Amino acid sequence: VSTAISDRATWLKGQTAGCSTVLPFPPQPCRLVLLGAPGIGKGTQAELLCRRLRSCHLSTGDVFRAIRYDPPDMLSPAMQQALQQMTSGQLVDDQTVLDVIRERSRCFECQYGFVLDGFPRTVLQAEQLDQTLRQLRIKLDAVISFELPMEMLIERLSGRRTCPQCKATFHVTSRPPRKQDVCDSCGGKLIQREDDRPEAVRVRLEAYTQSTAPLENYYREDGRLLAVSGDGSPEAVHERVLDALRPQRAVATAQRTG
Ligand code: AMP
Repeated sequence: VSTAISDRATWLKGQTAGCSTVLPFPPQPCRLVLLGAPGIGKGTQAELLCRRLRSCHLSTGDVFRAIRYDPPDMLSPAMQQALQQMTSGQLVDDQTVLDVIRERSRCFECQYGFVLDGFPRTVLQAEQLDQTLRQLRIKLDAVISFELPMEMLIERLSGRRTCPQCKATFHVTSRPPRKQDVCDSCGGKLIQREDDRPEAVRVRLEAYTQSTAPLENYYREDGRLLAVSGDGSPEAVHERVLDALRPQRAVATAQRTG
């Protein structure tokens, strides 16, 4: 699946790059944060939401993956360290992530709206995001938290295969490509992401439980959290998200027009 509205150049390359966009602005830009353990399908849900709501998919994982093939001497020491942390399955440290976000804060003001996927991942990151959005006078519509039992997460992650060319994802049993190891969309050779290998998966789930789960409390306490089950097909989960969002979107429309 690919995001249809934009090449996300500003997000992937930083503030000075301009995006090429192909659709008009949506009448009501939607601004969301998606939370959930690795493997729960956040990326797929982000793509589906972006296509439906015309928001832009802002994934921090995509930013780090996009610089992987840059020559090391073009990367700042902080970025080199971030890359090393990412490929071993660890979280990238807050300071580096916040620097990366600061360089891309223009994306929060985009009239397409946004779906943040993979950021924030710690309470500190969430506090910084709130501060930035307050300064920009931008309000989040909702924080969606996807939920699924741990065994199902491990199964989903270690069977995932990704196309490095177009970013489409497959699963060896639940969503196999038509031809083994070949991308249905672009014919690229499918790979297992380094951070989807079993050793890295365990570290990522542990990091999630320790650092990211408290985020749910952060957003639950002020009433912004919408919990959605991540079980079932991507389309079924997507419909659940749209149902959960309906009241928020109605309030946002009323505030805009009233
Ligand atoms: P993802 O595609 O969101 O699963 O991200 C892949 C990897 O990028 C993670 O396992 C982390 O190493 C790193 N990463 C992405 N976003 C963040 C973040 N907000 N904080 C810390 N590390 C991150």
